[in-house]
Amino acid sequence: MTQENKNLVINYPSAKYSWLKSGGNISNLYKIYNQIDLSNLFNNNDIKAKSLLVVGNLSNTLIKDEGFKGIGIKLLGDFTNIKINSDHMLVGAAVLDNYLSKFCYQNAISGYEFLYTIPGSVGGNIFMNAGCYNQEIKDKLITIIYFDINENKIYEKKISELKFEYRKGFQKKNTIILYGKFKINHSDQSYIKDIMQEYERIRNQSQPQKVNCCGSIFKNPKNQSAWKLIKSSIDNSFYNGPIKLSKIHSNFFENEPNISANSIDLFISKIQKRVKDKYKIVLEKELRIID
Ligand SMILES: Cc1cc2nc3c(=O)[nH]c(=O)nc-3n(C[C@H](O)[C@H](O)[C@H](O)COP(=O)(O)OP(=O)(O)OC[C@H]3O[C@@H](n4cnc5c(N)ncnc54)[C@H](O)[C@@H]3O)c2cc1C
Repeated sequence: MTQENKNLVINYPSAKYSWLKSGGNISNLYKIYNQIDLSNLFNNNDIKAKSLLVVGNLSNTLIKDEGFKGIGIKLLGDFTNIKINSDHMLVGAAVLDNYLSKFCYQNAISGYEFLYTIPGSVGGNIFMNAGCYNQEIKDKLITIIYFDINENKIYEKKISELKFEYRKGFQKKNTIILYGKFKINHSDQSYIKDIMQEYERIRNQSQPQKVNCCGSIFKNPKNQSAWKLIKSSIDNSFYNGPIKLSKIHSNFFENEPNISANSIDLFISKIQKRVKDKYKIVLEKELRIID
């Protein structure tokens, strides 16, 4: 058996792992443990020609019921490591936000408290330019290291040379984010812990907990709050049923597990239409819907 086949999962069930507990299968998903796995896989021109979906922690992704027929990539192994160097932290794209935040606390590194409450991975954060509490991942990055599948080559780019926007980070086609090099600022541990606890407290108060959800459905339009636009455009029926808006936060929905991904997509479109009809504003999805 080749290395490539050992790492292949057929019909990877995204619904089992996604935060929405819904979504179709990825027909061919490759587990990638190191850079050798990567270059071996993308030496194959048939694989290179297929469309690519990198799977992070699936906290912002919904795959349509028909499934994804291209190549799925799941980073593991080397990409789950964090290394502290003299002037930066090298963090693998598969490291989870909550883990990184706790690691920073343990090493008295401040600035990563906001990640304590985001359920993604570093790769997903860099792709999305994730953020909260007036901070974004781009503010913490020095460079990103990514793999270009067309060229079968690894690149490192300074963050100052890249254009990151609100909830839109490094989204170059046919690339896989492998690592981020992050800034290091030391602070008192008790100060860091206080901020983490405060962020957790705010989150628990303002957003639904322990439900299947994807965080914010839509990006906030410039100078507007998506939740206010939604709340003032819809009727009570949107707060009931197997997919329903959260009464705590109208830009969040909650859904029953294993519900059809296409029905979630339809629910989102209905909200979008209501807001467009009332305000002539087209809300842009933050959730990534894959078909
Ligand atoms: C309860 C809850 C609260 C949330 N709160 C916030 C919040 O406060 N702020 C915020 O910004 N977001 C929030 N989110 C959304 C989500 O957590 C972030 O967008 C997060 O950055 C997504 O990371 P992920 O690893 O889960 O990405 P995934 O959902 O797995 O992927 C998201 C996108 O990134 C791409 N991607 C992932 N990894 C890589 C990689 N290594 N290389 C290339 N592309 C990659 C995927 O292909 C996909 O297009 C929340 C979600 C939930 C469920």
